Amino acid sequence: MKKIAILGSTGSIGTQTLEVARTNGDLEVVALSAHRNIRLLEKQVRKFRPRLAAVWDGEKAKELRQNLRDLDVKVISGMDGLLEVAAMKESDVLVTAIVGMIGILPTIEAIRAGKDIALANKETLVTAGHIIMPLAKQYGVSILPVDSEHSAIFQCLQGGQEGALAKIWLTASGGPFRGRKRGELQNVQVEDALKHPNWEMGRKITIDSSTMVNKGLEVIEAKWLFGVDVGQIEVVVQPQSVIHSMVEYADGAVVAQLGTPDMKLPIQYALYYPERRYLPGERLDFFKLSRLTFERPDLDTFTGLGLAIRAGREGGSLPTVLNAANERAVALFLERKVGYLAITDIIAECMGRHKNIENPSVDDILATERETYEYVDTRVKRSCMTCLHVNT
Ligand code: NDP
Repeated sequence: MKKIAILGSTGSIGTQTLEVARTNGDLEVVALSAHRNIRLLEKQVRKFRPRLAAVWDGEKAKELRQNLRDLDVKVISGMDGLLEVAAMKESDVLVTAIVGMIGILPTIEAIRAGKDIALANKETLVTAGHIIMPLAKQYGVSILPVDSEHSAIFQCLQGGQEGALAKIWLTASGGPFRGRKRGELQNVQVEDALKHPNWEMGRKITIDSSTMVNKGLEVIEAKWLFGVDVGQIEVVVQPQSVIHSMVEYADGAVVAQLGTPDMKLPIQYALYYPERRYLPGERLDFFKLSRLTFERPDLDTFTGLGLAIRAGREGGSLPTVLNAANERAVALFLERKVGYLAITDIIAECMGRHKNIENPSVDDILATERETYEYVDTRVKRSCMTCLHVNT
């Protein structure tokens, strides 16, 4: 029986991973972890009976330990807890369903312990892809994409001749604000940005999808996963979200992966690769699907996409600045401390003032993350509300 550990089991990807484990019945869940949501984590522990549960927040970990005293489960906390989950002896695969750069150290720890990685946590590859990919090669472990577009590309590459990949067509839904101009986004509220037209996801990635920064992060993720140049990746808006991505081969043949929007498919594919299993759910009906449409992304409105492509092209520590500035700005937007357009303005400002470090170490990446967070916080504190596009 394959044994899995999950970082971020209480989130959107984490809960769907557990759903895949439940319906298949032949995956053993050996470790779970969350940030603070111990109510759900306790339910998950009682249902799946892992040996280890990690909670980031120390107080919440204490509470959970008390609540679970009738079970034989070790409850741990903080970064040590995440690292223990990542490298746990009993697991075969680590599902990185945690959000943000906090995933870097546990992912490295898991690779060093010989675990395959089912990777949803794109922020780790965006900022540390140059460390993660060679390390995985060195330790002989697989990095299996969970992100739907990257899973689609991975599926399209099966059976393809190595070296014949010419281009990746990375599809995007365009998000809730497709077709709007930048000026029309001035008064966007948190509730508007959280309404994704096709996918139900966690809050951070939903905001990232609305700004299209998510697509930019995915360009960088694809660069590392598939070993291509950023120039070989073309973003195409496909508003129906039926084509999950495509690859173009040297002879001009284009192979696409299509399906209804359901993250359980890429999760299950990553967990059982190369096996394909039955997955309950809706199927595509080409007779009902009246049309598939395609558009070029509007880089004047969605400036975050252009910034991310630039960061991906230049590399070094610039993708860390892009990512850290975005993480902080999105958190501030969700707390209603800055307006919607400030998200991409903050990213642009942080990238503009950064002195790029070529080939940064993990310490450089974490220091750059810290400095960027601090800069954003100070900058926001001393700015007038209108400069940050807050609706007053
Ligand atoms: P959610 O916000 O729904 O869930 C995040 C999970 O991470 C929660 O379990 C949360 O715990 C946990 N977490 C956050 N911080 C910590 C921490 N410091 N220590 C331990 N656990 C922590 O996110 P998603 O599931 O939407 O996204 C997860 C990742 O997958 C992201 O990188 C995203 O970009 C990527 N992804 C998501 C997709 C989706 O459909 N949702 C699609 C493709 C990629 P708690 O519940 O306690 O806060």
